[in-house]
Amino acid sequence: MSPDLAQRIKALAAETGYAACGIAPARPFETFRRAVLARMARFPEAAGLYRDLLARADPRADPRAGAPWVRSLVVCVRRYGRYRVPPGLAGHIGRSYLFDRRCRACPEHDMPSRFTAGLRALGLRARRGGVPERWAGALAGVTRFGRNCFAFSPAHGSWINIETWRVDAELPPDRPTVSSPCPPGCRACVEACPTGALVAPYVVRMDRCVAYLTYGAPGPVPDELWKRMGPWIYGCDACQEACPLNRGRWEETEAAPWLERAAPLLAPRALAGMSDDTYRAVVHPLFWYIPPDNPQRWRRNAARALKNAECGLPKAE
Ligand code: SF4
Ligand code: SF4
Repeated sequence: MSPDLAQRIKALAAETGYAACGIAPARPFETFRRAVLARMARFPEAAGLYRDLLARADPRADPRAGAPWVRSLVVCVRRYGRYRVPPGLAGHIGRSYLFDRRCRACPEHDMPSRFTAGLRALGLRARRGGVPERWAGALAGVTRFGRNCFAFSPAHGSWINIETWRVDAELPPDRPTVSSPCPPGCRACVEACPTGALVAPYVVRMDRCVAYLTYGAPGPVPDELWKRMGPWIYGCDACQEACPLNRGRWEETEAAPWLERAAPLLAPRALAGMSDDTYRAVVHPLFWYIPPDNPQRWRRNAARALKNAECGLPKAE
């Protein structure tokens, strides 16, 4: 165990721009696997979705599967709740997608590769990813699970991403953060969920979540859900925006020039009437979960957002 090395890794994370960094032992995430199986049993209508998740997740439930050299996990928190949201986009496109670091134009695009290079310069064998992020965040003591199933950082709320590395050094682990950050009795997120996807605290039914319905669901969305998707065009922030733990946690201290340039084309009215060329040249490079040959899905989502803004919304039961 090397406390000194652990401190240097955390200093490297701060230099790279991460808001927090913790260390966890490389042991299997059995609880994660059991939680996915429990959702499959509870929502047989969505079993296919959970089966896909499990197929992707199963190797990730054991950090040492296929990598027996792994000894510890390094877990970093990236805070995106510091960017100025261009006018007209909030409430239509989820904030995590607006400020997705994976977008090439985002100035934080290369953070993980810089951090990986720094770990290797410290003499570590390091591989990015390969574990369930939110569970790793709790195990490494940097985030806690809210009842809306998002990971919360004590300083930045849920406007964060978690990034993980598996390394070959035995490092002193941080204390896990297993307790809930939620005030007793709070159900603001459950009540704010427009489609009833957050069926109970800590339980999201994937096939009703607006985020999935806007960009992932195959085929037409049932009419009853379609109406409830309200103003959301791509993603949904309703359960995060309603959360008291996020109050004051979005501080618009930095400009997002790459997004400001595109913003006029991302307003609902512009999206509803955009050309195929605009979609391919401007929208798809920023938001890529809808395939490049399906601008119609964006146009339909945007037209529904406009219509719902005019008519008002039905409430979830
Ligand atoms: S993202 Fe939206 S639809 Fe999904 S659980 Fe949260 S509030 Fe509900
Ligand atoms: S809205 Fe309330 S219950 Fe839901 S995650 Fe936030 S604090 Fe927890």
